[in-house]
Amino acid sequence: MILGDPNRPPYAAQPPKPEMTPPGCAKCGKEMQLGFIADTDHHGAMAEQEWAIGRPVKGFFGVHASGRTYTVRTYRCTQCGYLESYAPSR
Ligand SMILES: [Zn+2]
Repeated sequence: MILGDPNRPPYAAQPPKPEMTPPGCAKCGKEMQLGFIADTDHHGAMAEQEWAIGRPVKGFFGVHASGRTYTVRTYRCTQCGYLESYAPSR
């Protein structure tokens, strides 16, 4: 069992809650900002990205989720642009 990578900062071990202080960047250690990756619906309106458990189910209008979904929160490093996403439980 691997207990931890000594080169990885300790804050990376605990995924942050969406409204918590942003994590430091896992690549360069700089500050990260909370945001979201925008999807668009079939009307072209912006929507938050969702993570769905399992495989997509094909339907007449495209694919849909067969189970629970979670809103994806993404942090972006202000220095190098690295993205880190979380899909926390509501
Ligand atoms: Zn970075």
